[in-house]
Amino acid sequence: MPQSRTDLPPSVRTLNDSRLNLGCAFTDEQREELGLVGLLPDGIETLEIQLDRARLQFDAQGSDLAKYQYLSALQDRQERLFYALLRSDFERYMPIVYTPTVGEACQKFGHILRRPKGMYLSVKRRGNLAKVLRNWPVRDVRFIVVTDGERILGLGDQGVCGMGIPVGKLALYTACAGVPPEAALPVVLDLGTNNESFLADPLYPGLKMPRITGDEYFSFVDEFVDAVQEVFPRCCIQFEDFTNKHATPLLRRYRDRVCCFNDDIQGTASVAVAGLFGACRVARKPMGEQTLLFMGAGSAGVGIADLFVTQLMADGCSERDALKRCWFVNSRGMVHEKMPNLPDYLERYAHDVAGLTFPANARVGVDSPLKDLVDVVETIRPTAIIGVSTVAHAFNEGVVRAMARINARPIIFPLSNPTSKSECTAEEAIRWSDGRAIVASGSPFAPLHYGGKLFVPGQGNNVYIYPAVGMAIYATEATRVTDAMFLRAAESLASQTTEQDLSVGLIYPPISSIFETSIEVAIAVARFIFHTGLARVREPADIEQLVRSKVYDPSF
Ligand code: NAD
Repeated sequence: MPQSRTDLPPSVRTLNDSRLNLGCAFTDEQREELGLVGLLPDGIETLEIQLDRARLQFDAQGSDLAKYQYLSALQDRQERLFYALLRSDFERYMPIVYTPTVGEACQKFGHILRRPKGMYLSVKRRGNLAKVLRNWPVRDVRFIVVTDGERILGLGDQGVCGMGIPVGKLALYTACAGVPPEAALPVVLDLGTNNESFLADPLYPGLKMPRITGDEYFSFVDEFVDAVQEVFPRCCIQFEDFTNKHATPLLRRYRDRVCCFNDDIQGTASVAVAGLFGACRVARKPMGEQTLLFMGAGSAGVGIADLFVTQLMADGCSERDALKRCWFVNSRGMVHEKMPNLPDYLERYAHDVAGLTFPANARVGVDSPLKDLVDVVETIRPTAIIGVSTVAHAFNEGVVRAMARINARPIIFPLSNPTSKSECTAEEAIRWSDGRAIVASGSPFAPLHYGGKLFVPGQGNNVYIYPAVGMAIYATEATRVTDAMFLRAAESLASQTTEQDLSVGLIYPPISSIFETSIEVAIAVARFIFHTGLARVREPADIEQLVRSKVYDPSF
């Protein structure tokens, strides 16, 4: 048997524990006390020096995937330095820790795996999930991000290789909104995989069996949710990257019973609605006059539409009129009242097409009157098109030009991730609309010049929302997570976009200031949680001070 961890001297335990390890920043007194003298070079370093070295090593990596691996290893070795590095330059590190690089990391996870982070709960452990959860070394887990790996970003079934998503999302809870890292537990439910190449790959580290489905699937997730309540009673569960056939039913099943949310549905909706608030300011057209056309009718699209409808109704619009401002295109064409076999969550958006004027040469399909997106745009005349379909290039030149013919300032949100799935690039949307499009994308696009003007495309990144909502939940120990909290978060986020941001087309506050932005959003949501009686802690005199007092500080 190898020497057990408890047999190791404190010096080795300290250096091996990423949460304790400060590398060469230990003072002489600490080195004496912990028996570290001689185990480290004798120069005593500041955080700044260590950050310089980390940047040097990061920059020396030859690819984004290598950079991802470097950061992952740093997180395993020196947690505080990892978070200090992320916080020092979000624009540089976030696309590596999360989208788009995390997509490639998931696809290659079985090959690049070094140290599995988080927990893997497989069907083999059915009936024992609470016992397995107790193997996690931290007792007071406050956030679990969980996926079953079936719909990772727009990349389909990645099985247990989807672990990169909970790991990355939770890192951003800490980096962007200061949720302490020890509160976080990434989880993958290993329910099999239908990914043929993984099933044939000896390096695939999960169970090699077809996915379980139906009642068997739901009863496993029930056991998981109950086990979390038992083992970590103050924990909020964030469901992440489930396919739509599971995402919506799971949210409905648990949202009124336990503290949980689905970021693909509610977080996406919140950041998209915040983007629409910004776009309304640029286009000088109120929310109530916007008509949204969604390309893709999955979790993200329906979630955005639902929250948009809630917002319009809060502004005094009737539900019927609010619903009619949202139209969907799915893989069968434009969704309408007579389209057969619609899922129940889409029925309220299946409108009567009797009063519409179709283009003369429109190609009419069997179960949808319109299949071509240009035809749909010309028929519905939307003010905004929102891409959540994972169909790359769906917003082609014809579609963008049609939007630009109809609108002085067309709103174009190609939200599908990763970059390879984006419905169009920011540059295409700007160029094809002659510089008039208001753009927010799912994956980051670099600033560009067009017609002598600078454009800074906004990234409609959920990271503006879920870490901040998470911080509010953490500080208040909220019992439930509601859609109204996400609407409050969207309003707070949108209110922080300045006129200067808007003047270059940026409809969100810059990512570089995401930490300050998130804390403000967290304070606003925390106030709302107290106001709606969902907090478990007593309301303090100063809610801002409560939130700020909970923020994790990675400095030494
Ligand atoms: P989903 O699988 O639930 O939905 C995708 C939908 O697109 C499905 O309804 C599918 O039928 C539809 N679709 C497929 N082919 C189509 C076609 N040819 N025409 C029209 N529709 C088609 O996935 P989701 O959770 O809704 O996510 C969709 C995309 O949005 C993903 O790429 C995801 O990464 C991205 N997303 C981005 C953000 C963000 O940027 N903030 C947030 C969430 C999701």
